[in-house]
Amino acid sequence: GHRGPAAEREVASVCPYCGVGCQVGFRVRDGSIEEVVGLDGPSNQGRLCVKGRFGFGYLTHPDRLRQPLIRRDGAAKDPSDCRDPRGALAKFREASWEEALDRAAEGLRRIRDGHGPDALAGFGSAKGSNEEAYLFQKLVRTGFGTNNVDHCTRLCHAASVAALLEGIGSGAVTAPFTAALEAEVIIVIGARPTENHPVAATFLKEAASRGAQLVTMDPRGSELDRHATEVVRFAAGRDVAVLNAMLHTIVTEELCDRQYIAAHTEDFGLIRDHVAAYAPEAMAPIAGVPAEQLRRVARLYARARTAMILWGMGISQSTHGTDNTRCLIALALLCGQVGRPGTGLHPLRGQNNVQGASDAGLIPMMFPDYHRTGDDLFRARLETLWGAALRPEPDLTVVEIMHAMTRGQVRGMYIMGENPAMSDPDLAHARAGFARLEHLVVQDLFLTETAALADVVLPASAWPEKDGTVTNTNRQVQIGRAAVTPPGAARQDLAIITEMARRLGLAWSYAHPREVFAEMAAAMPSLANITWERLQREGSVTYPSPAPDAPGEAIVFGDRFPTSTGRARFVPAGLSDPAEMPDEGFPFVLTTGRQLEHWHTGTMTRRAEPLDMLEPGPTASLCPADLERLGIAAGDRLRLVTRRGAIELSARVDPMLPPGLVFVSFAFAEAAANLLTNPQLDPWGKIPEFKFCAVRVERAV
Ligand code: SF4
Repeated sequence: GHRGPAAEREVASVCPYCGVGCQVGFRVRDGSIEEVVGLDGPSNQGRLCVKGRFGFGYLTHPDRLRQPLIRRDGAAKDPSDCRDPRGALAKFREASWEEALDRAAEGLRRIRDGHGPDALAGFGSAKGSNEEAYLFQKLVRTGFGTNNVDHCTRLCHAASVAALLEGIGSGAVTAPFTAALEAEVIIVIGARPTENHPVAATFLKEAASRGAQLVTMDPRGSELDRHATEVVRFAAGRDVAVLNAMLHTIVTEELCDRQYIAAHTEDFGLIRDHVAAYAPEAMAPIAGVPAEQLRRVARLYARARTAMILWGMGISQSTHGTDNTRCLIALALLCGQVGRPGTGLHPLRGQNNVQGASDAGLIPMMFPDYHRTGDDLFRARLETLWGAALRPEPDLTVVEIMHAMTRGQVRGMYIMGENPAMSDPDLAHARAGFARLEHLVVQDLFLTETAALADVVLPASAWPEKDGTVTNTNRQVQIGRAAVTPPGAARQDLAIITEMARRLGLAWSYAHPREVFAEMAAAMPSLANITWERLQREGSVTYPSPAPDAPGEAIVFGDRFPTSTGRARFVPAGLSDPAEMPDEGFPFVLTTGRQLEHWHTGTMTRRAEPLDMLEPGPTASLCPADLERLGIAAGDRLRLVTRRGAIELSARVDPMLPPGLVFVSFAFAEAAANLLTNPQLDPWGKIPEFKFCAVRVERAV
């Protein structure tokens, strides 16, 4: 066939979608990206999934914001505008950057000075760079004067991080997912890597084909099951029953690694006594899994020379997400499956930069590098570095901010690169809260569902349009380089944050992300020996790195844990019901998640033609038996109703689903899954229960 002339240049960067962090080459011609190729990065070795290869149409989509927008005088904020942001465009007028920035900052200043710093809040982004995340939280903490700053990690692995910090002193993975290639046994629980971490899934399959025993554990079946030696299909919401039964088996059959427990852990007695009540025979009816299989899997994991556990949102997006994770940590500690090649705990991080944004301090209760805001010593250090006073209070998380908005306690917000009017649970409530804000500034690529309720909208730049660093699920800090320029008057996010900061009275001047990186590295011991220049040279460096010329440590905690005692802690987890159980009025269980072709709230992938053609509209998946019982055929219109809302979408058959479970993707604005979800929070991680609520399924009329 005919081939056009070769691209003019190839720019090395990182895929902007998932936490795998595949390195990509953007092939540029006539100022636009005409092709994307996989480069030989440590997490992808040349591989890419469909999003990384074909997911870039959003860059040049006609919906891209090209000019700042200001809400027209008298144009009411109506939560129903979230259902049709394009229609809400008429409520805005174009403005110059000067006018828009002045207006944006003036509204925030007025609220700060009139009602105090806690009347303001900010959401940063896990899709931006480390430098942007760092500057954003610094702006909120020093310019607004509050720790009301968070991002979508709260909706993602907050529960995992809470349990990991408590148990092993660090919220990041102990080993990269590529370590699975050296594992004898691999447990994948509450995760669907084929869809959500596709390139990571290829390594897991490779490990299985080389002889590793793969165990998949989830209420839903998945494509990965075909490669598994054990498939554990347990009842939704019953993770603790399953995992405590495994812990019970390991303890009572004396499969523990006594030496490891004695040398590296504390509170073994607590977990030993606690799991005594969780015999597999007692848990089997609750978990929906035969006792013999629970025992078999426990033995398999405990007896393996090397074993790894990888998990995802199925574990964390639950009101007992922290408890679920505590059990996984206990499994690894009982058997000494941490700190050696082929072992480890790996929460598969979702967004391309959710690890980095969390590390950089984009979370209310912690400063950069997870130092609690109440840690006087670190706070004093940071106050010196930043030349500003900081608050010791931990302040509010995403869903708590939503409640504070509806109470009128938070009156103004600055949201950069997130779309909470799609991603928050119980959207009717959340959207009403955003509409109620006196002042909302949104910085994004499109007029998102959230931006439709803004007072000022600032047109931002997309990842392939900027230089910066991101940190993937493997703790690999990687550098991305601008391949193309932003459209129209859209600006670099760092420049926008800096302009906002100046208008809030901060004397900031950062000419280049490299300067922000240098300051960040000074604030964060985890980035020791990693410099912008080194990243330019090497492309990717794993933290922690022991010396400027030594590779980073891929596998950590072989000798000691970063806790006050150097030991890891066992924390027992009790059994409790999900927050909203099915009943007569709402007899099904709704679970939400992603799908291969679409990313989160769909703002990017639904504007990338090949992806939107593959998955053009919202569907609700049920198992064949349920559909038959309801007299519904694939493609029929369905209505899903919960105590919080209703949506209409078409039915889809999924034989991998168990009876009674309905799956909906949250990427589709026209049938927003989060109108249905339950905002009840896990008490430690403050994460809502996206994976379980009671729902009724009806034929749409
Ligand atoms: Fe991008 Fe993730 Fe796909 Fe890699 S696996 S190409 S990082 S979406």
